[in-house]
Amino acid sequence: MPELPEVETVRRDLQRLTLGPRILAVEVLLARTIAYPAGETFGRGLIGACFTRWQRRGKYLLGSLDSGAVLGVHLRMTGQLLWVQGSMPLSAYTRVRLAFEEGWDLRFVDQRTFGQMWLVPPGVGPEEVMTPLRSLGPEPFSPAFSEAYFQAALQKSRRPIKTALLDQSLVAGIGNIYADEALFLSGIHPVTPALQLSDAAKVRLREALIEVLRAGLEQRGTTLRDYRDLRGLNGNYQGQAWVYGREGDPCRVCDAPIRRIKLAGRSAHFCPRCQPQQS
Ligand SMILES: [Zn+2]
Repeated sequence: MPELPEVETVRRDLQRLTLGPRILAVEVLLARTIAYPAGETFGRGLIGACFTRWQRRGKYLLGSLDSGAVLGVHLRMTGQLLWVQGSMPLSAYTRVRLAFEEGWDLRFVDQRTFGQMWLVPPGVGPEEVMTPLRSLGPEPFSPAFSEAYFQAALQKSRRPIKTALLDQSLVAGIGNIYADEALFLSGIHPVTPALQLSDAAKVRLREALIEVLRAGLEQRGTTLRDYRDLRGLNGNYQGQAWVYGREGDPCRVCDAPIRRIKLAGRSAHFCPRCQPQQS
């Protein structure tokens, strides 16, 4: 699933490429991709408008239109936005197609169909329509994700730290890859109950989260099988991952084989020597 660095990379591309031309036509090829509003209203609200700004909140993209409406997008597992010439053949997984002036298309392609789009009407706050936005925690690069906030939030949680990090209400935008990577860099075993972490461990973990997200951004996201940027290209981060996706491979620090365990239905990758389990 795309995480903050992947979604932010897509946002930057959208901001660079899609501002200006007006939307001429909207084709919804899979109705359930549109979370709001139902029926023809979605397309009617977009036609004639142009994007003026793209923002991101957690893993959500928010495209402001000159009409005052906002297009919300969540890529979920396999969603991709592509900015291509309208003459390009449609892939079988194309769910929504916005056709623009100058012959461009913005296409939402999504093999597993969990991705969603919302059209927030003018004058309405995005969180009124996109209800998951209401429970998002602070952005990891924002001052709200302070040491004091992180210490206090983890102090309340008995959950394994890995599971806590995936909770979007603790901090927005972290998923499996960057959680595993940050736990490795801070030497913390993924099953450690959050409230058992020392203050020093929490300081290390917060800094590691920011560091791995920044590294992912610099590489334009990961080489996850399903992740593509707006031109359909992979990012480069995963080739450098410390532990994610490296089960059985030697740890880059100590050579011990990387282990993978299941934790709350998700896999967790870690080095048993660099991230010892506390007794
Ligand atoms: Zn190691």
